[in-house]
Amino acid sequence: MASIFTMIVRGEIPCHRVHEDDKHFAFLDINPITRGHTLVIPKREVDQLFDLEPDELAELWTCAQVIAKAMKTATKCARVVTCVMGYEVPHVHIHLIPTNELEDFPIPPRGTLDPADADAVTAAIRQHL
Ligand code: AMP
Repeated sequence: MASIFTMIVRGEIPCHRVHEDDKHFAFLDINPITRGHTLVIPKREVDQLFDLEPDELAELWTCAQVIAKAMKTATKCARVVTCVMGYEVPHVHIHLIPTNELEDFPIPPRGTLDPADADAVTAAIRQHL
């Protein structure tokens, strides 16, 4: 079954379209964190960002860059921040969120790096590079 975002691209579900080209689509998030919160997607339905082909990944971020610059000008925000989650919709989407202060997109509480585990996790990652 097509993802909800593919249905948006096809026009089967309404959206507020910000941008469209042959490979990408961008539209306002239906539950915005801040005014102008936009999602940028590849039209090709892939679940996880890093499963895109390298050229697709580069083109998606280039598209997001163009949109983010337009958003920054349009909303007069201090920074457009970005994240990629995908826990709700398994179709790659880059969140672009206009912000004026950290509280506009708060980061969850963070811990302190444990030196012993840091060695272990560094080694574990390096092993797969
Ligand atoms: P996540 O998969 O965790 O990155 O979250 C999915 C995002 O998609 C959320 O921010 C939702 O508000 C947004 N979303 C879900 N359905 C729609 C829709 N029909 N139109 C616009 N945004 C949507």
